[in-house]
Amino acid sequence: MLSEIELYIHIPFCIRKCNYCDFLSFPAGEELQNRYVDALCEEIRRTGEHINSSFKIRSIFLGGGTPSILSIYNVNRIFSCIREHFPFTDRTEVSMEANPGTLNSEKIKTYRDAGVNRLSIGLQSADDECLKMLGRIHSWQEFLENYHEARKKGFDNINVDIMSALPGQSLESYLDTLKNIIELGPEHISSYSLILEEGTPLYNDEALLKRLPDEDTDRRMYEMTKKILEEAGYHRYEISNYAKEGRECIHNLGYWEDVPYLGFGLGASSYWKEKTGSDCQESFLRFSNVRDMEKYLAQPFRPFEEREDYQELSREDRMAEFMFLGLRKIRGVSLKDFKDRFGCDMESVYGIAIHRFLDLGLLTMKNGRIALTEQGINVSNQIFCEFI
Ligand code: SF4
Repeated sequence: MLSEIELYIHIPFCIRKCNYCDFLSFPAGEELQNRYVDALCEEIRRTGEHINSSFKIRSIFLGGGTPSILSIYNVNRIFSCIREHFPFTDRTEVSMEANPGTLNSEKIKTYRDAGVNRLSIGLQSADDECLKMLGRIHSWQEFLENYHEARKKGFDNINVDIMSALPGQSLESYLDTLKNIIELGPEHISSYSLILEEGTPLYNDEALLKRLPDEDTDRRMYEMTKKILEEAGYHRYEISNYAKEGRECIHNLGYWEDVPYLGFGLGASSYWKEKTGSDCQESFLRFSNVRDMEKYLAQPFRPFEEREDYQELSREDRMAEFMFLGLRKIRGVSLKDFKDRFGCDMESVYGIAIHRFLDLGLLTMKNGRIALTEQGINVSNQIFCEFI
């Protein structure tokens, strides 16, 4: 059986930078976008030749930035290149991130025709005041038009991203956003609390920071998200992600379930397994592409061992990753999977930490799985640290 891999393609362009954003993204004109797609296609082609073996493509994710900023010509170029070097089928989950303000009917049709079968739309809030404060380029109305157009063009798997704990956002405003989205009935909803990232305009805006919701309101937003979405038929399968039955994001699950992936484009990270040495031992590698555009354009493909942050993972690293990535899933990690993978019991490695967290009510153990409790989710970062 062929092993499964995932592909991530990074499009680092946005119309303008949002006030809270520290992702690798920036505005760019058409000429740079064209040169970038030339480089991206070269990287995809050379990587396909370099790995020189067959894999089943489990999912493809075009993320950013704002992939929907690209012209139809460039989107078609990227997908033709992927098809040529990493053939995928109709059953492969192919997601694309899109932002209102950069979408239109023709683009949405192009995505469908190119094989995209899951659209992830960045809304953030249904309240235009909040959108303005965040520096988003669109209104709720524009989002609605794009959403309905996507449905019309046949998208039956849509994610909507929303945010809570925003400056000036009341509980009512947040719940209104949730209610409005539920009425539309997307298959997947991601709800993230605002994280203040150093160096962003929001981080330095004292007046806005004074308008952040207090701790109680923040807590209520968080609790109500779970309650309201579950009542509406969305189950929570990861700390911030909710889906209708069978509509979990396959690509993201792969990140938490040890599926190898190749990242293409500026700054993109990869996790890769390969057989090395005369005894064909399996090596587990992590590496990233350069984050400097000129360097990337000059040399879009480099052998894996020459990439940034190249690291061969030890068995201990992999066990730690299995734990802290797997525990992000609400169903947690399987004791049997751990043993099958590493040849030892999870408790023989992490017994002390696991039992401490079980005693504190932060973890539960049932049906051969260990998972965070509701209380554990609240302090998940501290728990993850224990496994690193
Ligand atoms: S659209 Fe997304 S990636 Fe682009 S600046 Fe805004 S938050 Fe960042």
